Amino acid sequence: MQQLPPFVKNLPRTRIVCTIGPATGNVNRARQLIRAGMSVARLNLSHGSPEDHSEYVAAVREAAKQIGVHVGILADLPGPKYRIGTVHPEQAVKQSGREGIAVNTRDNFVLTAERVHTTSQRGTVWPAGLHHDIRPRASILIDEGAVELRVDKVDGEEIHCTVRRGGLIQSDKAVTAPGNTSTLDYFTDETVAALEFAVKADVDFVGLSYIRNRDDLRAVRKWLADAGRNPVLVAKIEIKEAVDNLNEILDETDVIMVARGDLGVEMPLHLVPTTQKRMIRMANEVGKPVITATQMLESMRDNPYPTRAESTDVYNAVRDGTDAVMLSAETSVGDYPVAAVKFMARVSKMAERYLDTEMLRNRRMAIIDKEGRHAQINSIIAFDAARTADTLRSKAILTFTETGTTADRVAAFRPRTPIIALSPNQKTLNNLSMRWGVIPILAESLAELDQMFGYGANLAKEIGFAKDADTVVLVAGVPIGQTGSTNLLRVITIGDDDQGSS
Ligand code: PGA
Repeated sequence: MQQLPPFVKNLPRTRIVCTIGPATGNVNRARQLIRAGMSVARLNLSHGSPEDHSEYVAAVREAAKQIGVHVGILADLPGPKYRIGTVHPEQAVKQSGREGIAVNTRDNFVLTAERVHTTSQRGTVWPAGLHHDIRPRASILIDEGAVELRVDKVDGEEIHCTVRRGGLIQSDKAVTAPGNTSTLDYFTDETVAALEFAVKADVDFVGLSYIRNRDDLRAVRKWLADAGRNPVLVAKIEIKEAVDNLNEILDETDVIMVARGDLGVEMPLHLVPTTQKRMIRMANEVGKPVITATQMLESMRDNPYPTRAESTDVYNAVRDGTDAVMLSAETSVGDYPVAAVKFMARVSKMAERYLDTEMLRNRRMAIIDKEGRHAQINSIIAFDAARTADTLRSKAILTFTETGTTADRVAAFRPRTPIIALSPNQKTLNNLSMRWGVIPILAESLAELDQMFGYGANLAKEIGFAKDADTVVLVAGVPIGQTGSTNLLRVITIGDDDQGSS
C-alpha cells in the first residue's frame, strides 16, 4: 500500500499548475515546488528547446517519485499563431536591453508572406496566411501591442499598414489581429514538432493554444491517438472565436483554461473578468476542470510578496469555482518561484474556507436534470457521496477508480471531505492531479466488492485519515472492472468487524 507524505494533508483542495523553466527545471527545485503545493508541472513548448523540456520532464518525474506523490505534466502546444520574421541584424538597435527594429508612429509598414529580414519598412509574417484573414481598417498587434498597425490595403500576399503605435519589433514575436479568425491549419510545423515531443515524453496533459472550435480538438485527439497516446486535453480559451464556441468546446474537451494573457490581447481587457467568470460557471456546470491562468501573482517574478490585487485575484477565482490556478513567469523565470507557490496555496486555502459549496453543487445539479438515465445515476451517486460525507463529517471519501471518472464525478460536487482516489493505474493517478480536492493513491486492483470495503477501511487508517469509530464513505462502480459507472455508495465505520453498514 502506498504511504502518503504528511504534507499532502495540508495542501489546498485547489490545484496549482506551475510552469517549469530555467528557474525551476531541476530535481531540487521541483521537490520544493511539490512540497509547496504544485499539483501539475507545465511546459510551454512555445519557449525553450526540446532538450530543455526533456530535462524538465525528467526532473519533475524524479522529484515526484522521490517524494511519493503523483504530479501531472502538461505540455502546451504553440497552436496556429502568426509571428514576425527575424530582424535585420544590421538594422537592429538596442532599447532598454532589448534588441529589435524601431518603427515610428505614422510610418508605413508592409507585412509580407515572403521570407525577408524585418526592417523598419517591411517584415515577414509567418506561417503565410494572414493576408487571407484580414480586411482594411483592422488592427494588427505585434508582441501583444508593443507595436500596433492599422491595415490600409491588402495586395496579394502583402498587407500595407500604417503604424498606429511605434515601438520595438523583436524577432519571432507574436502577430495578432484581435477579433479576426485565423484560417491557418492547426498543425503548423511548430505544433507538429511540439506534438511529437508530447508523444515522446508521454506527458499526461496536452494544452491546445489558440483553438477555435471542436474540430481543432478532435483533430489533435486523433493525431495523438494515431501515435498511441491518450492524454487529457486542455482547451486554452484565448481568442474570441473560442469564447463564442465555448459550448461545443466544452462538449469535446476534458479541461478548459481561461488563458487571460492572450485573451486580454484578443478582446477588450475590460471584458476579460466577465468572460472568466462565465467560463468558470460553464465548466462547473458540466463538471469539467477549469484552470485560471496568467498574471495571477505576476509581481512575484521580482518580489517576495504579491500585490494586494493579485492576492484578491487568486482568492476570487477560487471562490468563483476554479479548479486550478496557474503560475507562468512566476515559476519559470521568476526570482521567487517557491514563495509564489506557497502564497498561492495559502490564499487558496483561505478562499476554500468560505467556498459556497451549495451554490457550486446547484450549478452542477441544474445540468444533471437534463442528462440521460445512466449519466444521472452516476452523478446523483457522486452528489450523494459528497453530501453524505459532509453531513456525517466523514474523514474521507474513498473512490475506487480505473479511469478516474468516479473521482472526477465526486470532485465536481466540491465535498468538504477529502477525496482519496485509489487506482492501480499510474496514468489515471497522474491525470487526477488536475482534479479539485482529489488525493491520488496507488492501490491494488481488487476483484471482489467485499475486499474493497476492508481494503478501504484499512487504507484510511494507515494513511492517517481515520481512526476507530470514524466513518469513511466509499464510492465505486459495479460490476468491478467495467469502466464508466458510479453506482455504489457505502458508509464504513472504521473498526466495525463487518466494516460497518449504512
Ligand atoms: P501562454 O497561455 O502562457 O501560452 O501565453 C496562457 C495565456 O495566454 O494566458
